[in-house]
Amino acid sequence: MSNYDVIVLGGGLAGYCAALSAAEEGATVLLAEKCDEGGGSTVLSGGFMAFADTALQRELGVSDSPELLLEDLRSVGGPHAQEDLLRTYAAEQTTLFGWLTAKRLRFEGVELAAGQSAPRSHSIDPGQLILTLHELAQANGNVTIRTGTTGVYLLREGENGRIRGVTVEESGRLEDVEARCGVVIATGGFSRSERLLQTFAPQQARALRVGGVGNVGDGLRMAWRHGADLHDMGEVKGTYGVHATECNNGQEILLIFYRGAIIVNREGRRFTDESVSYKLIGDAAMRQDSPVTWQIFDKKIFDGSIGAARLFDAAAALNRGLLIKADSLQSLAEQCGIDPQGLLATVASYNEDARSGRDEAFGRDGLCHHVGALVPLDQPPFFAYPSAVAVLATYCGLRIDAKARVIDVYEEPIEGLYAAGEVTGGFHGKAYMTGTSLGKSAVFGRLAGREAARTGRA
Ligand SMILES: Cc1cc2nc3c(=O)[nH]c(=O)nc-3n(C[C@H](O)[C@H](O)[C@H](O)COP(=O)(O)OP(=O)(O)OC[C@H]3O[C@@H](n4cnc5c(N)ncnc54)[C@H](O)[C@@H]3O)c2cc1C
Repeated sequence: MSNYDVIVLGGGLAGYCAALSAAEEGATVLLAEKCDEGGGSTVLSGGFMAFADTALQRELGVSDSPELLLEDLRSVGGPHAQEDLLRTYAAEQTTLFGWLTAKRLRFEGVELAAGQSAPRSHSIDPGQLILTLHELAQANGNVTIRTGTTGVYLLREGENGRIRGVTVEESGRLEDVEARCGVVIATGGFSRSERLLQTFAPQQARALRVGGVGNVGDGLRMAWRHGADLHDMGEVKGTYGVHATECNNGQEILLIFYRGAIIVNREGRRFTDESVSYKLIGDAAMRQDSPVTWQIFDKKIFDGSIGAARLFDAAAALNRGLLIKADSLQSLAEQCGIDPQGLLATVASYNEDARSGRDEAFGRDGLCHHVGALVPLDQPPFFAYPSAVAVLATYCGLRIDAKARVIDVYEEPIEGLYAAGEVTGGFHGKAYMTGTSLGKSAVFGRLAGREAARTGRA
């Protein structure tokens, strides 16, 4: 039986961070990735990572702090977001930023997005991020990477003993591999498993499915079989703003409502406060009769978005043929199939509210998370982005503690078992702050690798 100090399952951001940090502790590591290439949902992502109080923010004149980040995480997640995980994130994210930038990874800019009271979504090319970590792991004599290798079962000492390894499958052949110190599950979420989505998120039946093709909940089920507890399973929410017909596995997504657009349904009516998390907007959109709703905005908002990050850049969306454009709201409504009278009435009343600074209909008090003044939609041409809801990450899963140890249903850690990234629950609670899914994968990935290596070799 081949053996390593640490086995990491999954070659996404959490897995690479776990493998590298375990190797930095001197542990030998097997990184097993199911697909022919790693990257999972990470490489599909918008590349936003939530950090507070970074050199980049200071350069751009943004005032932020780990304390404010923690406060925002609490307010976004609500009472059942796990306090120890939130505190760990707030405390570890500065070190993580330094760890990544020391590996020559560069963050391009900082955007204000869901759940943030200061712009803290740091933008990075996710393909470059994974490629860099992969090359570092490859060059590290302690790490062995095996692609096309699927973790199938956890091996355990006795019925309730330590996790001692993994049965992996490669080219149809099963093989037991021993982990002397621990196993880190970093297999991502289950946005590609109809069965698990039906079990835990039947309310998302109409939502599109997006994410890494290997993300079907393998790690969740492997640990579940050994009594692992689950957290936040009722909180799977779709993300609002994916293009309704050209979703392209989540690559076509626009969040121009955080720059002032309103969102309307087929009757031309608003149905939500557009400044809240796009997960909560996703819930509201799912309650509309039609699965398609529209982000509506005018020339001012369009012009203001030029050159912004891809998620906010309406001009780039126009160039890719994704926007509907018209010289009047009447014509825009007709092109979209929205009731024109409904849209005209909605925009008239919204504009009045925006000028007075008080949204009577839904209490929108800013563009994004209470920040920014409302913008009347009064300068033609007008634009519409037909939008749908997509489950692009599952934000729930294995219960872990602040050392990334997997906790069982009797609230005991399962010895030798760690988990990180989207396979874990407890962090996001009822909504979501942009950039914390990648952020959480990296923070807890590093922690899991380090803990497994240190604990097992102590
Ligand atoms: C379109 C889109 C946009 C997004 N934008 C953002 C964003 O801007 N900011 C943000 O914070 N989050 C974003 N997210 C969410 C974020 O990308 C993910 O939550 C995060 O990348 C998860 O990282 P991970 O390492 O846990 O999983 P992944 O990156 O998905 O990696 C998991 C890996 O495990 C492998 N695997 C699965 N099962 C097994 C097995 N049995 N054995 C071995 N390997 C296995 C998979 O093949 C995969 O490669 C976005 C997601 C999508 C889809």
